[in-house]
Amino acid sequence: MTEQQWLCPGCGQIVHSKMGKAGDPCIGCETELFFTAQSPETRAEIDNAVASLPNIWAIKRIRELTGCDLSMAIFVHSDRQRAGQDATSG
Ligand SMILES: [Zn+2]
Repeated sequence: MTEQQWLCPGCGQIVHSKMGKAGDPCIGCETELFFTAQSPETRAEIDNAVASLPNIWAIKRIRELTGCDLSMAIFVHSDRQRAGQDATSG
């Protein structure tokens, strides 16, 4: 399988992938879309877990809440951690 390149429809960054198809969002945008697709209760639970639990437990909690795979849970965790730090430092 050959690697393809295309521009992410969400942020305009170049996406490199052997797995995805042209026009898919980059992992950053995909993580954001995945998170915003959750219910408000689930999003609050995720943010609460990220803020209060050790990383490994927060990631486990994200998987329990959303049923996503491990790699997506890790992306969601780091994304929400960054969002939380922005909120407290800004
Ligand atoms: Zn993107």
